Amino acid sequence: MTDNERLADLLFGDIDKTVEYFEEKYPPRALKEGARVTRFAPSPTGYLHMGGLFGALTDILTAKSTDGVSMLRIEDTDKKREIGDGVSAILDGFAAFGLEFDEGVCSDGGEKGEYGPYTQSKRVEIYQTVAKQLVKEGKAYPCFMTAEELNEIRTQQEKEGALFAGCYGKWAKHRDLSFDEIKSRIDSGEKYVVRFRSDGDENKRIFFDDIIRGKIEMPENIIDEVLLKSDGVPTYHFAHVCDDHFMRTTHVIRGEEWISSTPKHIALFKACGFRAPKYAHTPQVMKIDEDDGTKRKLSKRKDPEAAVSYFVEEGYPREALIEYLMGLLNSNFEDWRRANPKADLFSFPFNLKKMSPSGCLFDMVKLNDISKNVISVMSADGVFDRVTGWAQQYDNELYGLFSANPDKARAILNIDRENPKPRKDIAKWSEVKDYVSYMYNELYKESFDLPENINENDAAAIIESYKKVVAAADDKQTWFDKIKELCEPLGFTPNVKEYKQNPDAFKGHVGDVSTVIRIALTGRTNTPDLHSIIAILGDSEVQSRLNAAENFYREGK
Ligand code: GLU
Repeated sequence: MTDNERLADLLFGDIDKTVEYFEEKYPPRALKEGARVTRFAPSPTGYLHMGGLFGALTDILTAKSTDGVSMLRIEDTDKKREIGDGVSAILDGFAAFGLEFDEGVCSDGGEKGEYGPYTQSKRVEIYQTVAKQLVKEGKAYPCFMTAEELNEIRTQQEKEGALFAGCYGKWAKHRDLSFDEIKSRIDSGEKYVVRFRSDGDENKRIFFDDIIRGKIEMPENIIDEVLLKSDGVPTYHFAHVCDDHFMRTTHVIRGEEWISSTPKHIALFKACGFRAPKYAHTPQVMKIDEDDGTKRKLSKRKDPEAAVSYFVEEGYPREALIEYLMGLLNSNFEDWRRANPKADLFSFPFNLKKMSPSGCLFDMVKLNDISKNVISVMSADGVFDRVTGWAQQYDNELYGLFSANPDKARAILNIDRENPKPRKDIAKWSEVKDYVSYMYNELYKESFDLPENINENDAAAIIESYKKVVAAADDKQTWFDKIKELCEPLGFTPNVKEYKQNPDAFKGHVGDVSTVIRIALTGRTNTPDLHSIIAILGDSEVQSRLNAAENFYREGK
Protein backbone atom coordinates (compact mmCIF):
# COMPACT_ATOMS: atom_id res chain seq x y z
CA MET A 1 0.00 0.00 0.00
CA THR A 2 1.36 3.41 -0.91
CA ASP A 3 1.31 6.29 1.55
CA ASN A 4 -1.35 7.98 -0.54
CA GLU A 5 -3.53 4.89 -0.35
CA ARG A 6 -3.07 4.76 3.40
CA LEU A 7 -3.91 8.45 3.58
CA ALA A 8 -7.07 7.94 1.55
CA ASP A 9 -8.18 5.23 3.97
CA LEU A 10 -7.28 7.37 6.95
CA LEU A 11 -9.29 10.35 5.73
CA PHE A 12 -12.20 8.44 4.24
CA GLY A 13 -12.47 5.30 6.35
CA ASP A 14 -16.27 5.26 5.95
CA ILE A 15 -16.27 5.50 2.20
CA ASP A 16 -16.63 2.04 0.70
CA LYS A 17 -17.84 3.03 -2.77
CA THR A 18 -15.57 3.83 -5.70
CA VAL A 19 -15.65 6.26 -8.58
CA GLU A 20 -16.29 3.27 -10.88
CA TYR A 21 -19.37 2.43 -8.82
CA PHE A 22 -20.82 5.88 -9.55
CA GLU A 23 -19.73 5.74 -13.17
CA GLU A 24 -21.91 2.66 -13.49
CA LYS A 25 -24.74 4.02 -11.42
CA TYR A 26 -24.93 7.18 -13.55
CA PRO A 27 -24.10 5.96 -17.05
CA PRO A 28 -23.78 8.31 -20.02
CA ARG A 29 -27.23 9.25 -21.20
CA ALA A 30 -28.68 7.55 -24.23
CA LEU A 31 -29.75 10.68 -26.07
CA LYS A 32 -29.68 11.48 -29.74
CA GLU A 33 -26.62 13.17 -31.17
CA GLY A 34 -26.50 16.87 -30.37
CA ALA A 35 -28.95 16.64 -27.46
CA ARG A 36 -27.91 19.00 -24.70
CA VAL A 37 -28.15 18.26 -21.00
CA THR A 38 -28.42 21.40 -18.87
CA ARG A 39 -29.05 22.19 -15.28
CA PHE A 40 -30.22 25.16 -13.31
CA ALA A 41 -28.43 25.09 -9.98
CA PRO A 42 -29.65 27.72 -7.54
CA SER A 43 -28.53 28.10 -3.96
CA PRO A 44 -31.43 28.56 -1.55
CA THR A 45 -30.06 31.81 -0.19
CA GLY A 46 -33.04 34.06 -0.84
CA TYR A 47 -35.85 34.58 -3.27
CA LEU A 48 -35.86 33.64 -6.93
CA HIS A 49 -34.13 36.52 -8.68
CA MET A 50 -35.02 37.77 -12.15
CA GLY A 51 -31.55 36.65 -13.28
CA GLY A 52 -32.46 33.18 -12.01
CA LEU A 53 -35.62 33.00 -14.06
CA PHE A 54 -33.62 34.21 -17.05
CA GLY A 55 -31.00 31.49 -16.47
CA ALA A 56 -33.55 28.76 -15.89
CA LEU A 57 -35.37 29.65 -19.07
CA THR A 58 -32.07 29.46 -20.95
CA ASP A 59 -31.45 25.98 -19.55
CA ILE A 60 -34.91 24.72 -20.39
CA LEU A 61 -34.90 26.18 -23.90
CA THR A 62 -31.45 24.81 -24.64
CA ALA A 63 -32.55 21.33 -23.61
CA LYS A 64 -35.93 21.49 -25.33
CA SER A 65 -34.59 22.81 -28.62
CA THR A 66 -32.18 19.87 -28.87
CA ASP A 67 -34.40 17.10 -27.45
CA GLY A 68 -32.14 17.07 -24.43
CA VAL A 69 -32.74 17.16 -20.70
CA SER A 70 -32.96 20.03 -18.22
CA MET A 71 -32.46 19.52 -14.49
CA LEU A 72 -33.12 21.53 -11.36
CA ARG A 73 -30.38 20.96 -8.81
CA ILE A 74 -30.41 22.59 -5.41
CA GLU A 75 -26.95 23.71 -4.31
CA ASP A 76 -27.30 23.84 -0.56
CA THR A 77 -23.75 23.25 0.60
CA ASP A 78 -23.31 26.73 2.03
CA LYS A 79 -25.43 26.38 5.12
CA LYS A 80 -24.32 29.75 6.45
CA ARG A 81 -25.94 31.61 3.57
CA GLU A 82 -29.02 29.43 3.35
CA ILE A 83 -32.40 30.76 4.44
CA GLY A 84 -35.20 28.61 5.87
CA ASP A 85 -37.70 28.65 3.04
CA GLY A 86 -35.13 29.24 0.31
CA VAL A 87 -35.99 26.06 -1.59
CA SER A 88 -39.72 26.71 -1.61
CA ALA A 89 -39.13 30.30 -2.73
CA ILE A 90 -37.35 28.89 -5.79
CA LEU A 91 -39.88 26.15 -6.45
CA ASP A 92 -42.85 28.52 -6.01
CA GLY A 93 -41.22 30.98 -8.39
CA PHE A 94 -40.92 28.36 -11.13
CA ALA A 95 -44.38 26.96 -10.49
CA ALA A 96 -45.89 30.46 -10.77
CA PHE A 97 -44.33 30.88 -14.21
CA GLY A 98 -45.11 27.38 -15.39
CA LEU A 99 -41.46 26.45 -15.87
CA GLU A 100 -40.80 22.76 -15.53
CA PHE A 101 -37.55 20.90 -15.62
CA ASP A 102 -37.31 17.37 -16.95
CA GLU A 103 -35.45 16.12 -13.90
CA GLY A 104 -34.55 17.19 -10.43
CA VAL A 105 -36.32 18.73 -7.50
CA CYS A 106 -40.06 19.16 -8.20
CA SER A 107 -42.51 21.73 -6.95
CA ASP A 108 -43.95 19.29 -4.40
CA GLY A 109 -40.46 18.99 -2.91
CA GLY A 110 -39.94 15.43 -4.26
CA GLU A 111 -37.69 14.68 -7.19
CA LYS A 112 -37.72 12.90 -10.53
CA GLY A 113 -34.95 11.45 -12.68
CA GLU A 114 -32.32 8.72 -12.54
CA TYR A 115 -29.33 10.94 -11.82
CA GLY A 116 -30.31 12.08 -8.34
CA PRO A 117 -30.34 12.93 -5.57
CA TYR A 118 -30.62 16.43 -7.00
CA THR A 119 -29.92 18.23 -3.75
CA GLN A 120 -26.23 18.58 -3.00
CA SER A 121 -26.47 17.96 0.73
CA LYS A 122 -27.71 14.46 -0.16
CA ARG A 123 -24.72 13.74 -2.40
CA VAL A 124 -21.94 13.94 0.14
CA GLU A 125 -21.00 10.30 -0.37
CA ILE A 126 -20.31 11.00 -4.04
CA TYR A 127 -18.04 13.98 -3.32
CA GLN A 128 -16.14 12.08 -0.68
CA THR A 129 -15.68 9.11 -2.96
CA VAL A 130 -14.15 11.30 -5.65
CA ALA A 131 -12.02 13.13 -3.07
CA LYS A 132 -10.80 9.77 -1.75
CA GLN A 133 -9.75 8.78 -5.23
CA LEU A 134 -7.89 12.09 -5.68
CA VAL A 135 -6.06 11.59 -2.38
CA LYS A 136 -5.14 8.07 -3.45
CA GLU A 137 -3.65 9.45 -6.64
CA GLY A 138 -1.77 12.21 -4.79
CA LYS A 139 -3.97 14.92 -6.31
CA ALA A 140 -5.48 16.10 -3.05
CA TYR A 141 -4.27 16.42 0.51
CA PRO A 142 -5.43 17.45 3.97
CA CYS A 143 -4.52 20.97 5.04
CA PHE A 144 -4.58 21.92 8.71
CA MET A 145 -3.99 25.62 8.32
CA THR A 146 -6.11 27.69 10.67
CA ALA A 147 -8.10 30.78 9.75
CA GLU A 148 -5.39 32.91 11.37
CA GLU A 149 -2.66 31.27 9.33
CA LEU A 150 -4.64 31.82 6.16
CA ASN A 151 -5.09 35.48 7.07
CA GLU A 152 -1.38 35.79 7.63
CA ILE A 153 -0.70 34.36 4.20
CA ARG A 154 -3.07 36.88 2.67
CA THR A 155 -1.34 39.79 4.39
CA GLN A 156 2.06 38.48 3.41
CA GLN A 157 0.98 37.99 -0.21
CA GLU A 158 -0.28 41.56 -0.35
CA LYS A 159 3.01 42.81 1.05
CA GLU A 160 5.04 40.85 -1.47
CA GLY A 161 2.73 41.84 -4.33
CA ALA A 162 2.07 38.18 -5.13
CA LEU A 163 0.34 37.63 -8.47
CA PHE A 164 -2.39 35.44 -6.98
CA ALA A 165 -4.01 35.35 -3.57
CA GLY A 166 -4.67 31.99 -1.93
CA CYS A 167 -3.02 28.76 -1.07
CA TYR A 168 -0.40 27.69 -3.64
CA GLY A 169 3.29 27.05 -4.07
CA LYS A 170 5.32 28.03 -1.06
CA TRP A 171 2.19 29.28 0.73
CA ALA A 172 0.61 25.84 0.65
CA LYS A 173 2.37 24.77 3.81
CA HIS A 174 0.74 21.36 4.22
CA ARG A 175 1.14 20.13 0.68
CA ASP A 176 3.83 17.71 1.56
CA LEU A 177 3.22 16.61 5.13
CA SER A 178 4.22 13.02 5.75
CA PHE A 179 1.62 10.36 6.42
CA ASP A 180 2.80 10.08 10.02
CA GLU A 181 2.54 13.76 10.68
CA ILE A 182 -0.94 13.90 9.17
CA LYS A 183 -1.98 10.95 11.28
CA SER A 184 -0.70 12.42 14.48
CA ARG A 185 -2.41 15.77 13.79
CA ILE A 186 -5.69 13.99 13.11
CA ASP A 187 -5.29 11.80 16.19
CA SER A 188 -4.82 14.89 18.28
CA GLY A 189 -8.12 16.26 16.94
CA GLU A 190 -6.84 18.96 14.58
CA LYS A 191 -9.36 20.08 12.02
CA TYR A 192 -8.53 19.99 8.32
CA VAL A 193 -9.88 20.66 4.89
CA VAL A 194 -9.09 18.61 1.79
CA ARG A 195 -7.28 20.64 -0.83
CA PHE A 196 -6.60 20.07 -4.49
CA ARG A 197 -2.92 19.62 -5.27
CA SER A 198 -2.69 21.85 -8.31
CA ASP A 199 -0.06 21.09 -10.91
CA GLY A 200 -0.80 24.36 -12.72
CA ASP A 201 1.97 26.62 -13.97
CA GLU A 202 1.64 30.33 -13.39
CA ASN A 203 3.37 31.08 -16.66
CA LYS A 204 0.89 29.09 -18.70
CA ARG A 205 -2.48 30.18 -20.04
CA ILE A 206 -5.55 28.16 -20.78
CA PHE A 207 -8.16 28.68 -23.46
CA PHE A 208 -11.74 27.61 -23.41
CA ASP A 209 -14.67 28.19 -25.71
CA ASP A 210 -17.58 29.96 -24.18
CA ILE A 211 -20.64 29.44 -26.34
CA ILE A 212 -21.90 32.98 -25.76
CA ARG A 213 -18.56 34.78 -25.57
CA GLY A 214 -16.30 32.83 -27.88
CA LYS A 215 -12.70 31.94 -27.01
CA ILE A 216 -11.61 32.99 -23.53
CA GLU A 217 -7.98 33.02 -22.48
CA MET A 218 -6.95 33.08 -18.84
CA PRO A 219 -3.98 32.14 -16.64
CA GLU A 220 -3.89 28.49 -15.70
CA ASN A 221 -5.13 27.66 -12.21
CA ILE A 222 -2.32 27.29 -9.68
CA ILE A 223 -4.38 27.47 -6.49
CA ASP A 224 -4.73 24.49 -4.17
CA GLU A 225 -8.46 25.07 -3.89
CA VAL A 226 -10.45 23.61 -1.01
CA LEU A 227 -12.44 20.62 -2.21
CA LEU A 228 -14.01 19.53 1.06
CA LYS A 229 -14.49 21.83 4.01
CA SER A 230 -13.65 20.67 7.51
CA ASP A 231 -17.16 19.20 7.94
CA GLY A 232 -16.67 17.07 4.81
CA VAL A 233 -19.05 19.23 2.75
CA PRO A 234 -17.76 20.25 -0.70
CA THR A 235 -17.11 23.75 -1.98
CA TYR A 236 -19.06 24.94 -4.99
CA HIS A 237 -16.05 24.24 -7.22
CA PHE A 238 -15.75 20.59 -6.32
CA ALA A 239 -19.48 19.92 -6.15
CA HIS A 240 -19.91 21.46 -9.61
CA VAL A 241 -17.31 19.14 -11.08
CA CYS A 242 -18.65 15.96 -9.44
CA ASP A 243 -22.30 16.73 -10.07
CA ASP A 244 -22.01 17.87 -13.63
CA HIS A 245 -19.95 14.81 -14.40
CA PHE A 246 -22.23 12.26 -12.80
CA MET A 247 -25.39 14.01 -13.94
CA ARG A 248 -23.89 13.91 -17.41
CA THR A 249 -24.42 17.62 -17.99
CA THR A 250 -23.19 18.58 -21.44
CA HIS A 251 -23.67 22.36 -21.16
CA VAL A 252 -23.07 24.38 -18.03
CA ILE A 253 -24.99 27.63 -18.45
CA ARG A 254 -24.34 29.94 -15.52
CA GLY A 255 -23.87 33.58 -14.57
CA GLU A 256 -20.85 35.49 -15.86
CA GLU A 257 -19.54 35.84 -12.29
CA TRP A 258 -18.25 32.28 -12.68
CA ILE A 259 -15.98 32.97 -15.64
CA SER A 260 -13.01 33.68 -13.38
CA SER A 261 -13.37 30.27 -11.69
CA THR A 262 -13.55 28.30 -14.91
CA PRO A 263 -9.79 27.52 -15.16
CA LYS A 264 -10.06 26.00 -11.69
CA HIS A 265 -12.99 23.88 -12.79
CA ILE A 266 -11.28 22.72 -15.95
CA ALA A 267 -8.22 21.70 -13.91
CA LEU A 268 -10.44 19.76 -11.53
CA PHE A 269 -12.27 17.94 -14.30
CA LYS A 270 -8.92 16.94 -15.71
CA ALA A 271 -7.53 15.76 -12.37
CA CYS A 272 -10.65 13.66 -11.75
CA GLY A 273 -10.35 12.10 -15.21
CA PHE A 274 -13.72 13.58 -16.23
CA ARG A 275 -14.51 15.29 -19.48
CA ALA A 276 -15.28 18.97 -18.92
CA PRO A 277 -18.67 20.18 -20.15
CA LYS A 278 -19.14 23.10 -22.52
CA TYR A 279 -19.62 26.44 -20.82
CA ALA A 280 -21.91 29.36 -21.56
CA HIS A 281 -21.71 32.32 -19.21
CA THR A 282 -24.86 34.40 -19.34
CA PRO A 283 -24.92 38.19 -19.04
CA GLN A 284 -26.42 40.00 -16.10
CA VAL A 285 -29.87 41.49 -16.11
CA MET A 286 -29.53 45.28 -15.99
CA LYS A 287 -31.83 48.26 -15.75
CA ILE A 288 -31.67 51.98 -16.30
CA ASP A 289 -31.50 53.70 -12.93
CA GLU A 290 -34.51 55.99 -12.43
CA ASP A 291 -32.44 58.60 -10.64
CA ASP A 292 -29.30 59.02 -12.67
CA GLY A 293 -30.15 57.30 -15.95
CA THR A 294 -27.15 54.97 -15.80
CA LYS A 295 -27.25 51.30 -16.72
CA ARG A 296 -26.76 49.10 -13.68
CA LYS A 297 -27.35 45.58 -12.41
CA LEU A 298 -30.84 44.84 -11.08
CA SER A 299 -30.43 45.16 -7.36
CA LYS A 300 -32.10 42.98 -4.76
CA ARG A 301 -32.08 45.91 -2.38
CA LYS A 302 -33.27 48.73 -4.61
CA ASP A 303 -35.51 47.13 -7.20
CA PRO A 304 -38.68 45.29 -6.26
CA GLU A 305 -38.73 43.84 -9.79
CA ALA A 306 -35.50 41.97 -9.04
CA ALA A 307 -37.63 39.34 -7.28
CA VAL A 308 -39.70 37.06 -9.45
CA SER A 309 -42.39 37.09 -6.74
CA TYR A 310 -42.99 40.78 -7.51
CA PHE A 311 -44.49 39.81 -10.87
CA VAL A 312 -46.70 37.23 -9.20
CA GLU A 313 -47.93 39.73 -6.63
CA GLU A 314 -48.56 42.37 -9.28
CA GLY A 315 -50.44 39.81 -11.33
CA TYR A 316 -48.50 39.71 -14.58
CA PRO A 317 -49.69 36.74 -16.59
CA ARG A 318 -46.90 34.21 -16.63
CA GLU A 319 -46.83 34.09 -20.43
CA ALA A 320 -46.19 37.82 -20.62
CA LEU A 321 -43.06 37.73 -18.50
CA ILE A 322 -41.77 34.63 -20.25
CA GLU A 323 -42.46 36.11 -23.70
CA TYR A 324 -40.63 39.23 -22.62
CA LEU A 325 -37.64 37.30 -21.33
CA MET A 326 -37.52 35.30 -24.56
CA GLY A 327 -37.05 38.54 -26.46
CA LEU A 328 -34.17 39.42 -24.14
CA LEU A 329 -32.58 36.01 -24.67
CA ASN A 330 -32.73 35.93 -28.45
CA SER A 331 -33.41 39.14 -30.34
CA ASN A 332 -35.01 37.25 -33.24
CA PHE A 333 -37.76 36.00 -30.92
CA GLU A 334 -40.09 38.90 -31.66
CA ASP A 335 -39.95 38.31 -35.41
CA TRP A 336 -40.56 34.63 -34.83
CA ARG A 337 -43.52 35.45 -32.61
CA ARG A 338 -45.03 37.73 -35.23
CA ALA A 339 -44.72 34.95 -37.80
CA ASN A 340 -46.02 32.32 -35.37
CA PRO A 341 -48.49 34.12 -33.12
CA LYS A 342 -50.09 31.00 -31.73
CA ALA A 343 -47.10 28.65 -31.57
CA ASP A 344 -46.00 27.09 -28.31
CA LEU A 345 -43.21 29.14 -26.80
CA PHE A 346 -40.94 26.15 -26.55
CA SER A 347 -41.09 25.46 -30.25
CA PHE A 348 -39.01 28.62 -30.79
CA PRO A 349 -35.65 27.57 -32.29
CA PHE A 350 -33.63 28.94 -29.40
CA ASN A 351 -29.93 29.42 -29.99
CA LEU A 352 -27.42 30.00 -27.19
CA LYS A 353 -25.01 31.51 -29.68
CA LYS A 354 -27.47 34.31 -30.39
CA MET A 355 -27.36 35.51 -26.79
CA SER A 356 -25.63 38.81 -26.35
CA PRO A 357 -22.63 38.72 -24.01
CA SER A 358 -23.29 42.22 -22.70
CA GLY A 359 -25.81 42.80 -19.93
CA CYS A 360 -29.39 42.73 -21.09
CA LEU A 361 -31.67 45.55 -20.18
CA PHE A 362 -34.87 44.85 -18.28
CA ASP A 363 -37.44 47.33 -19.51
CA MET A 364 -40.72 47.52 -17.60
CA VAL A 365 -42.40 49.64 -20.27
CA LYS A 366 -41.75 46.98 -22.87
CA LEU A 367 -42.91 44.25 -20.51
CA ASN A 368 -46.15 46.16 -19.92
CA ASP A 369 -46.72 46.49 -23.66
CA ILE A 370 -46.16 42.79 -24.20
CA SER A 371 -48.40 41.98 -21.30
CA LYS A 372 -51.19 44.20 -22.66
CA ASN A 373 -50.96 42.36 -25.96
CA VAL A 374 -51.02 38.99 -24.26
CA ILE A 375 -54.04 39.92 -22.13
CA SER A 376 -55.89 41.56 -25.01
CA VAL A 377 -56.12 38.28 -26.92
CA MET A 378 -57.30 36.21 -23.94
CA SER A 379 -60.98 35.24 -23.78
CA ALA A 380 -63.17 36.97 -21.22
CA ASP A 381 -63.55 33.65 -19.40
CA GLY A 382 -59.79 33.22 -19.37
CA VAL A 383 -59.26 36.70 -17.96
CA PHE A 384 -62.00 36.15 -15.40
CA ASP A 385 -60.40 32.91 -14.18
CA ARG A 386 -56.95 34.42 -13.96
CA VAL A 387 -58.06 37.62 -12.26
CA THR A 388 -60.18 35.72 -9.75
CA GLY A 389 -57.31 33.35 -9.01
CA TRP A 390 -54.97 36.26 -8.47
CA ALA A 391 -57.48 38.30 -6.43
CA GLN A 392 -58.21 35.37 -4.13
CA GLN A 393 -54.69 35.76 -2.87
CA TYR A 394 -53.95 39.44 -3.31
CA ASP A 395 -57.20 41.45 -3.36
CA ASN A 396 -60.08 40.28 -1.16
CA GLU A 397 -62.39 43.08 -2.19
CA LEU A 398 -62.10 42.37 -5.90
CA TYR A 399 -62.37 38.65 -5.25
CA GLY A 400 -65.58 39.21 -3.29
CA LEU A 401 -67.14 41.32 -6.05
CA PHE A 402 -66.18 38.98 -8.86
CA SER A 403 -67.21 35.78 -7.16
CA ALA A 404 -70.53 37.23 -5.93
CA ASN A 405 -71.61 37.72 -9.56
CA PRO A 406 -69.34 35.96 -12.03
CA ASP A 407 -71.66 36.61 -14.97
CA LYS A 408 -71.49 40.34 -14.44
CA ALA A 409 -67.70 40.22 -14.10
CA ARG A 410 -67.38 38.17 -17.28
CA ALA A 411 -69.66 40.55 -19.14
CA ILE A 412 -67.55 43.53 -18.02
CA LEU A 413 -64.33 41.80 -19.04
CA ASN A 414 -65.85 40.90 -22.37
CA ILE A 415 -66.46 44.52 -23.41
CA ASP A 416 -64.43 45.20 -26.55
CA ARG A 417 -62.80 41.78 -26.24
CA GLU A 418 -62.88 38.70 -28.49
CA ASN A 419 -62.84 40.83 -31.62
CA PRO A 420 -60.12 41.52 -34.19
CA LYS A 421 -59.10 44.80 -32.55
CA PRO A 422 -59.29 44.25 -28.81
CA ARG A 423 -58.45 47.08 -26.42
CA LYS A 424 -55.14 46.94 -24.66
CA ASP A 425 -55.94 48.48 -21.31
CA ILE A 426 -54.71 45.91 -18.83
CA ALA A 427 -51.06 45.00 -18.26
CA LYS A 428 -51.49 43.10 -15.00
CA TRP A 429 -54.25 41.78 -12.78
CA SER A 430 -53.65 44.42 -10.14
CA GLU A 431 -54.91 46.98 -12.67
CA VAL A 432 -58.25 45.27 -13.12
CA LYS A 433 -59.85 46.71 -10.00
CA ASP A 434 -59.37 50.24 -11.23
CA TYR A 435 -60.37 49.21 -14.73
CA VAL A 436 -63.75 47.86 -13.59
CA SER A 437 -64.27 50.21 -10.65
CA TYR A 438 -67.12 52.27 -12.13
CA MET A 439 -69.12 49.11 -12.74
CA TYR A 440 -69.44 48.47 -8.99
CA ASN A 441 -70.98 50.96 -6.59
CA GLU A 442 -68.66 49.63 -3.90
CA LEU A 443 -65.68 50.93 -5.91
CA TYR A 444 -67.14 53.71 -8.00
CA LYS A 445 -65.98 57.23 -7.30
CA GLU A 446 -68.02 59.94 -9.04
CA SER A 447 -66.10 62.61 -10.88
CA PHE A 448 -68.02 65.11 -12.92
CA ASP A 449 -65.15 67.15 -14.32
CA LEU A 450 -65.93 68.27 -17.84
CA PRO A 451 -63.55 68.99 -20.71
CA GLU A 452 -62.96 72.71 -21.18
CA ASN A 453 -65.13 73.00 -24.26
CA ILE A 454 -68.33 71.93 -22.48
CA ASN A 455 -70.03 74.02 -19.82
CA GLU A 456 -72.13 72.79 -16.94
CA ASN A 457 -75.45 74.11 -18.28
CA ASP A 458 -75.03 72.27 -21.55
CA ALA A 459 -73.97 69.15 -19.70
CA ALA A 460 -77.07 69.32 -17.51
CA ALA A 461 -79.26 69.78 -20.55
CA ILE A 462 -77.70 66.81 -22.34
CA ILE A 463 -78.25 64.60 -19.34
CA GLU A 464 -81.78 65.80 -18.78
CA SER A 465 -82.71 64.86 -22.34
CA TYR A 466 -80.80 61.61 -22.31
CA LYS A 467 -82.47 60.42 -19.12
CA LYS A 468 -85.77 60.40 -20.95
CA VAL A 469 -84.66 58.12 -23.77
CA VAL A 470 -81.92 55.82 -22.51
CA ALA A 471 -82.82 52.12 -22.25
CA ALA A 472 -80.36 49.46 -21.16
CA ALA A 473 -81.93 46.90 -23.49
CA ASP A 474 -81.38 48.96 -26.67
CA ASP A 475 -79.21 47.44 -29.33
CA LYS A 476 -76.10 49.33 -30.30
CA GLN A 477 -77.59 51.09 -33.32
CA THR A 478 -80.68 52.27 -31.42
CA TRP A 479 -78.47 53.42 -28.57
CA PHE A 480 -76.33 55.48 -30.88
CA ASP A 481 -79.25 56.87 -32.86
CA LYS A 482 -80.71 58.14 -29.62
CA ILE A 483 -77.53 59.98 -28.77
CA LYS A 484 -77.41 61.52 -32.22
CA GLU A 485 -81.00 62.62 -31.89
CA LEU A 486 -80.15 64.55 -28.74
CA CYS A 487 -77.67 66.74 -30.57
CA GLU A 488 -79.53 69.23 -32.71
CA PRO A 489 -82.16 70.46 -30.24
CA LEU A 490 -79.32 71.21 -27.82
CA GLY A 491 -77.16 73.09 -30.33
CA PHE A 492 -74.74 70.23 -31.08
CA THR A 493 -74.34 68.43 -34.39
CA PRO A 494 -74.49 64.66 -34.90
CA ASN A 495 -72.07 65.09 -37.77
CA VAL A 496 -68.42 65.45 -36.83
CA LYS A 497 -67.42 66.47 -40.36
CA GLU A 498 -70.01 69.22 -40.39
CA TYR A 499 -68.67 70.47 -37.08
CA LYS A 500 -65.13 70.57 -38.37
CA GLN A 501 -66.17 72.57 -41.41
CA ASN A 502 -68.04 75.12 -39.37
CA PRO A 503 -67.16 74.92 -35.70
CA ASP A 504 -68.62 78.29 -34.77
CA ALA A 505 -72.09 77.19 -35.75
CA PHE A 506 -72.33 74.56 -33.00
CA LYS A 507 -71.67 74.07 -29.31
CA GLY A 508 -69.96 70.83 -30.18
CA HIS A 509 -70.56 67.49 -31.91
CA VAL A 510 -71.90 64.06 -31.06
CA GLY A 511 -68.56 63.08 -29.54
CA ASP A 512 -68.93 65.83 -26.95
CA VAL A 513 -72.45 64.72 -26.16
CA SER A 514 -71.36 61.17 -25.56
CA THR A 515 -68.41 62.38 -23.48
CA VAL A 516 -70.85 64.12 -21.13
CA ILE A 517 -72.87 60.92 -20.85
CA ARG A 518 -69.74 58.86 -20.35
CA ILE A 519 -68.53 61.10 -17.55
CA ALA A 520 -71.94 61.05 -15.89
CA LEU A 521 -72.02 57.25 -15.93
CA THR A 522 -68.41 56.33 -15.27
CA GLY A 523 -66.53 59.37 -13.97
CA ARG A 524 -64.10 59.02 -16.91
CA THR A 525 -63.57 60.42 -20.36
CA ASN A 526 -62.11 57.23 -21.74
CA THR A 527 -63.75 53.84 -21.27
CA PRO A 528 -64.52 50.80 -23.36
CA ASP A 529 -67.78 50.70 -25.30
CA LEU A 530 -70.38 52.84 -23.52
CA HIS A 531 -73.33 50.95 -24.96
CA SER A 532 -72.11 47.74 -23.29
CA ILE A 533 -71.47 49.59 -20.05
CA ILE A 534 -75.06 50.86 -19.99
CA ALA A 535 -76.39 47.40 -20.78
CA ILE A 536 -74.53 45.93 -17.81
CA LEU A 537 -75.27 48.74 -15.35
CA GLY A 538 -79.02 48.44 -16.04
CA ASP A 539 -81.74 51.08 -16.18
CA SER A 540 -82.08 51.94 -12.55
CA GLU A 541 -78.36 52.44 -11.94
CA VAL A 542 -78.08 54.43 -15.15
CA GLN A 543 -80.94 56.71 -14.08
CA SER A 544 -79.51 57.23 -10.64
CA ARG A 545 -76.05 58.13 -11.97
CA LEU A 546 -77.54 60.49 -14.56
CA ASN A 547 -79.59 62.17 -11.84
CA ALA A 548 -76.55 62.62 -9.65
CA ALA A 549 -74.62 64.19 -12.53
CA GLU A 550 -77.47 66.47 -13.53
CA ASN A 551 -77.90 67.68 -9.93
CA PHE A 552 -74.21 68.32 -9.72
CA TYR A 553 -74.13 70.46 -12.84
CA ARG A 554 -77.28 72.36 -11.89
CA GLU A 555 -76.53 72.92 -8.27
CA GLY A 556 -72.85 72.31 -8.04
CA LYS A 557 -73.24 69.40 -5.64
N1 GLU B 1 -25.19 27.67 -7.05
C1 GLU B 1 -24.53 28.51 -7.96
C2 GLU B 1 -25.14 29.88 -7.89
O1 GLU B 1 -26.25 30.01 -7.37
C3 GLU B 1 -24.73 27.94 -9.34
C4 GLU B 1 -23.74 28.29 -10.34
C5 GLU B 1 -23.85 27.27 -11.47
O2 GLU B 1 -24.89 27.30 -12.17
O3 GLU B 1 -22.98 26.45 -11.64
O4 GLU B 1 -24.57 30.83 -8.31
